Amino acid sequence: MIPVTKPYLPSREKFDKYVDGIYEREWLTNNGPLVQELTKRLEEYLGVENLLLVSNGTLALQIAYRALNIPETVCGKPAEAITTPFTFVATSSSLKWEGIEPVFADIDPDTWCLDPNKIEPAITEQTKAIVPVHVFGNACDVEAIEEIGNKHNLKIIYDAAHAFGVNYKGESLLKWGDAATLSFHATKVFHTIEGGAIVFKRKEDLDKAKKLISFGITGSETIDELGINAKMNEFQAAVGLAILDDINNVIKKRKDIKEYYNDKLLDTCVLQKMHPFITSNGAYVPVILNSESELMDLLSYLKVNGVTARRYFSPSLDSLVFINNITINKISRDISKRIMCLPIYESLDYEIVDLIIRIIKNKNGS
Ligand SMILES: *Cc1c(COP(=O)(O)O)cnc(C)c1O
Repeated sequence: MIPVTKPYLPSREKFDKYVDGIYEREWLTNNGPLVQELTKRLEEYLGVENLLLVSNGTLALQIAYRALNIPETVCGKPAEAITTPFTFVATSSSLKWEGIEPVFADIDPDTWCLDPNKIEPAITEQTKAIVPVHVFGNACDVEAIEEIGNKHNLKIIYDAAHAFGVNYKGESLLKWGDAATLSFHATKVFHTIEGGAIVFKRKEDLDKAKKLISFGITGSETIDELGINAKMNEFQAAVGLAILDDINNVIKKRKDIKEYYNDKLLDTCVLQKMHPFITSNGAYVPVILNSESELMDLLSYLKVNGVTARRYFSPSLDSLVFINNITINKISRDISKRIMCLPIYESLDYEIVDLIIRIIKNKNGS
C-alpha cells in the first residue's frame, strides 16, 4: 500500500555521530547540549527568536496558554478561546484539557482558515484568547486577527503545526501572535519523532515557559510555581539535528510534488486558496470533491489500487460530544465531509503520483 505519509529518516551515519556524543556525555535530558544546539539552529533556520523545544506539539499549545496567563475562569465562569473547528483535534482538546472552553468560529470557504469576520460576533465577557490554525501550511489573515486581538485585549496563539518553514511577506509566519506552536511529530515536514516548539513574541513569556516545562523548578531548592514535565530529550534532538541538515531538500521535493498534483487536479477538484504572500512547505495535498458519496467512492477506488488517502480533517470539531459546543459551523462541516489528503512524502515516486491523478480524473469522468 502507498501510505498517505511516510516519516523522513535521517542518514544513519549522521544520527549515529550524535548518539556517540550522547553516550560520551551520558547527559540524556534536562536541557542537554543537543537540545541547546537544536534550539539555536532552529532559531537561525526559521529566522525567529524565543524558541522553546518541548516534548510534543500538544504540550506546546498547553504551555503557551499557561505562559500567556490565560485564566481558567472569568468572574466564576469558564474562560473561552475562539478557535477553528477545521483542524486536528489537539487544537481544541488542549484548550479543554487546560479548562478553557473552545468556542468555534467558522472558516473561510476558500482558504479554510479561521474567518476573521466570524471572530468578533463570538467574543463574550469570558473570551481571553484566539487560537487560529495555519491550516495545511496556509497563512491565516494575521493582520486582521491581530487587529481584533488588540481591540479586545485577547491573547493570540497560532497553532502553526503545519507551518514549519513557511514565510509570510519574506519573514517567518511564526512571528505572528503572542505565541506560535509547532509539532515535530514523525508525520510532520520536520520532526524529532515526538516533539514540538513554541515561538514566543516576548522573552519574558519564554522565560516563564522554561520554568513551566520543568516542574516549575528554578534552582536546587526552589520551586517557584505549578509546572509540568514537557522537556525534549537528547535523542529527540539528535533526530532533529540530523534531519535539519536535509530539510531544504525535503521541503523542495515535497513542494514540487504538491505543485505537480495541483497543476493536474486543478480542473477536477477544489484546491485550497493559498495566501499570495507565503512560501509553500509541501506539507499536505488536500482536495475537495463534489459530495461525500463521491469522496467515499474515490477513497475505496484508491484503496483497491493500493493507495491510502485520508479524510483530513474530519469530523469538524464542532460536532465532537466532549466539547460543549452550541454552534454549527456550516462551512467547516460541509468541507470536512468532502475533503481528503493525498499521499505526499519526500521519497514519493512521480509514477505513483501519476497513477493517483489518473484514478481521480477517471473517477470524475474527465
Ligand atoms: C500534529 C498536530 C498537533 C499535535 O501535535 P503533536 O506533536 O502530535 O502533539 C496539533 N495541531 C495540529 C494542527 C496538528 O496537525
